[in-house]
Amino acid sequence: MSNKASRPNLLWSILTMKCPHCRRGNMYNSGNPWNLKKVFDMPEKCSECGQPFELEPGFWYGTGYVSYALSVALSVATFVAWYVLIGMSVQDTRFFWWMGSNIVLLIVLQPWLMRLSRVIYLYFFVRYNPDYADAHKETEQDATAHQHQH
Ligand SMILES: [Zn+2]
Repeated sequence: MSNKASRPNLLWSILTMKCPHCRRGNMYNSGNPWNLKKVFDMPEKCSECGQPFELEPGFWYGTGYVSYALSVALSVATFVAWYVLIGMSVQDTRFFWWMGSNIVLLIVLQPWLMRLSRVIYLYFFVRYNPDYADAHKETEQDATAHQHQH
C-alpha cells in the first residue's frame, strides 16, 4: 500500500480536476466554478506535464452527454436519499418537494457539473503516466503528429 502513496487516486484526481496525464497540474485556472465568467477558463496545456487539454477544435462538444449522465446520476442519488431519509407517498406532496429541491440543486451545481464533465471526458482519452516527466517530449511529438494528419 505505502509504495502507491505517490500515485494520486483516480477518483480524487477527477474531483479535484487534475490533469489526467500527470494527476498533478490543475485543469482550471480558478478553483471556483461559480465565478461564471471563468467557468471554462482552462490553460491550453498542463503546467506540470504539458498535456494539451482541448485535444482538437470542438473537442468539448461531447461533454454535453457527460453532464447529462451526471445530472441523471445525481438525481437518482438524491431520489434514493430522499426516499430513505424523508420518505415518499402518493398521498402527500413529498415527491414534489424532492423534485423542486432536486431541480434547485442541479441548477446550483451546474457550473461545477459542466467543469467535471470536461474533466471526465478528457480522462476517457488521456491515460495516466506516472513517468510523465520522462515522457514529456514524446507526448508533445505525438500531439504535433496528430495535428499534421488533419
Ligand atoms: Zn499534466
